Amino acid sequence: MKNPELIQKLENTIENIPDFPKPGIQFKDITPIFLNPKLYEDVIADLVSFSRGKVDAVCGIESRGYLFGIAVAVALEVPFILIRKAGKLPPPFISEKYDLEYGSAEIEMRTGQIKPGQRILIHDDLLATGGTTEAAAKLVEKQGAEVAQFSFLIGLRDLHGEERLKQFNADVHTILEY
Ligand code: AMP
Repeated sequence: MKNPELIQKLENTIENIPDFPKPGIQFKDITPIFLNPKLYEDVIADLVSFSRGKVDAVCGIESRGYLFGIAVAVALEVPFILIRKAGKLPPPFISEKYDLEYGSAEIEMRTGQIKPGQRILIHDDLLATGGTTEAAAKLVEKQGAEVAQFSFLIGLRDLHGEERLKQFNADVHTILEY
């Protein structure tokens, strides 16, 4: 459900940095949210109300997905699992490669932390092309769990990430879109 008051506050807070880290990218800087504890609380409350009673665990994507994902998991009283960039986790783990605009990337998740049949929320700060989130969802499905929900603070409409996530038949929530 959209929360117009929260959307307005976030629009006034999130900074748009043109041409960072590459020409043509409009980088959305969420760090000013952490200067305002009440706003941070409101963001968590919005994400929690989307997921309450619907998931058994939360997976957050490195690294900005951790900043909100852990607080959501604690409020929901469910486990939080880290999805990390390749090379950081000790074994046992599974990996998934995905394409970037130039080249490719790989993310990893420790095995045994989510259980077969669990309903999983995958969370990140921002949905762009959906490539990272799609790879995260594949890691979840490879372990026999169900991707029940995706949540993001921000969705970049023109990059059609939501289209890419349709294959998982999960509910998608973005607090605001650009
Ligand atoms: P994608 O795989 O294309 O959906 O990219 C999503 C990941 O890249 C997220 O973890 C975001 O934090 C980051 N990202 C992509 N585009 C932007 C942007 N314009 N501003 C800030 N972060 C971005």
